Amino acid sequence: YLAKRGGEGHAVFTPVTQPRIAHLTLESALYEALRGGQFTLVFQPQVRVVDRGLIGAEVLVRWTHPDLGVISPAEFIPLAEATGLIDGIGAFVLRAALSEALTWPAPLRLSVNVSPVQLRHPQFTGRLAALLAETGFDPARLTLEVTETAFINDLSAVTGAVRALRALGVRVTVDDFGTGYSTLMTLRDLLAHELKIDRAFVRELCAPGRKGSQNRAIVQATLGLAQALGLQVVAEGVETQAQADLLAELGCPVMQGYLIAPGLDAETFRQQFLNART
Ligand code: C2E
Ligand code: CA
Ligand code: CA
Ligand code: CA
Repeated sequence: YLAKRGGEGHAVFTPVTQPRIAHLTLESALYEALRGGQFTLVFQPQVRVVDRGLIGAEVLVRWTHPDLGVISPAEFIPLAEATGLIDGIGAFVLRAALSEALTWPAPLRLSVNVSPVQLRHPQFTGRLAALLAETGFDPARLTLEVTETAFINDLSAVTGAVRALRALGVRVTVDDFGTGYSTLMTLRDLLAHELKIDRAFVRELCAPGRKGSQNRAIVQATLGLAQALGLQVVAEGVETQAQADLLAELGCPVMQGYLIAPGLDAETFRQQFLNART
C-alpha cells in the first residue's frame, strides 16, 4: 500500500502490491494498533438547531499509525469488520467513550457508532449491559448509531439485537438515513428511537434551483415521517449557517457538523462545550 493524503486530512490507501499480501499487512497493522493503543477518540458536539444548546456528542474513532499518520475509519472499519477485529475495536470505543462521558453532566448524551457485525455477536448486548452496570452510566443517555444498509443485510439478527438494546434502555438511531435500500421497511421493523439525516441531503439543501428544492423536499418529508412515527431527528454534516437556518425553518431539532465543530479530543470538547455551559 502506498499512502497518500486524502480529504479531511486522512491518509488514503492505494493498493500497489498484490492485494492479498497488502490485505494481510493491513490486518496485522490493525491488530498491532489495537494492542498498541493507536486508537483514539474524538467527540463531535450535537446541538439544538434553534439555540445551539448542547445535547451531547457523537464519538468517532481515529487511528494514528506511527508511519502513515491519521487513517480514516472509513478506510479501516470495513477491514476490521471483515476480519473480526471490529469486536475488539468496538469494545475499546465503547469502554473509553463511556468512561469519558461519565464526566459530563446529565442529561448530556453519548452517541456511539456500532457495526452490524458487532450487533450480530451473541454476547454484544450482554457485554454492554455489564459495561453499563460496571460504569454506572445511565443507559438512557447512550445512543447506538447503526447504518441503514447494515439493517438490510441481516435484518432479523439486527432487529433481535435492537430489541435487546431497547430492553436495556439504550437508544438506537438509524444512521445515514435515506442512503440505504429499504428505508421505510427498516423504520417500520426496527423500533429505532431516532434517525440521522445523511449529510448528502444536508449538503445540497441550499443549492440553487431544482437540486436545492429536491433536497429540501426530502428533508421535509423525512421530518414529517419521523414526527408521524414518533422518532427524534438529527441532521449531520451541517457546514453553513444557511443550512442551519433552513433546518430551523423546516423544524429539524438537532444538528451536528463543521459549522459547530469537527470531532474534538476529549479535553478540547470539555473546555469548549462543557465549561462554557456552566
Ligand atoms: P458517520 O457515522 O456517518 O460519521 C460522520 C462522518 O462525517 C465522520 O467522519 C465525521 O468526522 C464527518 N463529518 C462530521 N461533520 C461533518 C461536516 O460538517 N462535513 C463533512 N464533510 N463531514 C463531516 P469519520 O470520523 O471519518 O467517520 C467515517 C465513518 O466511519 C462514520 O460515518 C462511521 O460510519 C464510521 N465510524 C467512525 N467511528 C466509528 C466507530 O467507533 N465504530 C464504528 N463501527 N464505525 C465508526
Ligand atoms: Ca454516525
Ligand atoms: Ca452518518
Ligand atoms: Ca456514514
